[in-house]
Amino acid sequence: MLDELKKELENCTKCPLHLGRNKLVFSDGSENAKIMLIGEAPGADEDKLGLPFVGRAGKFLNELLEKAGIDRKKDLYIANTVKCRPPENRKPLPNEKIACEGNLFKQIEVVKPKVIILCGSTAVETFIKDKKLTITKIRGQVFEYKNGIKLVPIFHPSYLLRKHSTEPDAPRALTLKDLEMVKAMV
Ligand code: SF4
Repeated sequence: MLDELKKELENCTKCPLHLGRNKLVFSDGSENAKIMLIGEAPGADEDKLGLPFVGRAGKFLNELLEKAGIDRKKDLYIANTVKCRPPENRKPLPNEKIACEGNLFKQIEVVKPKVIILCGSTAVETFIKDKKLTITKIRGQVFEYKNGIKLVPIFHPSYLLRKHSTEPDAPRALTLKDLEMVKAMV
């Protein structure tokens, strides 16, 4: 159902990110999934393959999903706030996010997830506008979106790659706990 939008966006020039696009990174997973995961933007590996979360951070995310009992292909629909890679892996700029957010909202409208996992601060900022609510403060909490859809912020896996502690209150363990909670919600 979203194939048409994807095809259309392959030639999108609505924001400057199209200039560096090798491949559009539209989504991965199932349109029938009850859980949607929204990340920041494609990186080099994603731009090369046209799929989200396929680099080092993606592999780490896969490990966590597996531990939480979430099947990436069947239980999840994955998308990013922007569909084209920002230069040198910088964060997408506000104008780029605004240019692309209608596409993300369309994806949500079609998939109709029960829960949306907001992966990292860029995804959080798209949905939760209060700047005081940083990811460290709100990860693992449940927020209302609309039409009964819940939002759950988690740490971004790129951040977790820099945090090696295996203590039960360290970011890696907390993120696994958050994913297990999401699994129990659907
Ligand atoms: Fe179009 Fe989105 Fe790519 Fe910008 S990031 S060119 S709005 S598809």
